[in-house]
Amino acid sequence: MLTWQFKSVTRLKYDEKDEAYHIRRDAVIDLHTHSIFSDGVLIPTELARRAEVAGCRVIAITDHADHSNIDFIVPRIVKVCKKISEAFAIRAIPGIELTHVHPDHIRDLALTARSSGAAIIVVHGETIVEPVMPGTNIAAINAPIDILAHPGLLSEEEAKRAAENSIYLEISARKGHSLTNGHVLSLARKYKASLVLNTDSHGPEDLISRERARLIAAGAGMSGDEIDAMFKNSEYLSQRL
Ligand SMILES: [Zn+2]
Ligand SMILES: [Zn+2]
Repeated sequence: MLTWQFKSVTRLKYDEKDEAYHIRRDAVIDLHTHSIFSDGVLIPTELARRAEVAGCRVIAITDHADHSNIDFIVPRIVKVCKKISEAFAIRAIPGIELTHVHPDHIRDLALTARSSGAAIIVVHGETIVEPVMPGTNIAAINAPIDILAHPGLLSEEEAKRAAENSIYLEISARKGHSLTNGHVLSLARKYKASLVLNTDSHGPEDLISRERARLIAAGAGMSGDEIDAMFKNSEYLSQRL
């Protein structure tokens, strides 16, 4: 039985290009990746092209940002994503990942990112492999963002609030961050929070196929129906943006 919240994609309108990727059931939608605008190794166009060849049909470029670089990064990612989407089969969505920003500053920086053109806002959650400041998860969940990435040892209260605020929780394909996928899944299930699976790619070797994504999700303990629902969440979110 599906315990997931997701809105039916059948009500959405697709343009011709989106229809093409929609038909491809094996296409990947990856809403969290990095380019040279933070610590990724590829410029955005090469990242998108390599993702396209790897079977990805929608990619969000979400470089790490704080107060020092957000005004520099966002307009450039917006510009290149427009060009990529016009010319390639892949659709590129401009985004940002607010990273190690003090919890008190997350809301204002999210508003800055949004007004600068970031269509998708990810917050770098309390992964167990980095000293992310406690309070980051709940600050993110209460801010106008889209995805709380690698939330680590998410609390019950955080999972509940994520569901109430329609913030997507991430199942991560990235080493280290993925260690708590099972925990995130169990609380998302309990409180009916919505999940998305992202690669958090920093280089071409991090890009994955839909089949690999299914294996990672199954490894966290997800059923086939739950995995399908999670992929639909990514589809819905990418269409909503
Ligand atoms: Zn992150
Ligand atoms: Zn990231």
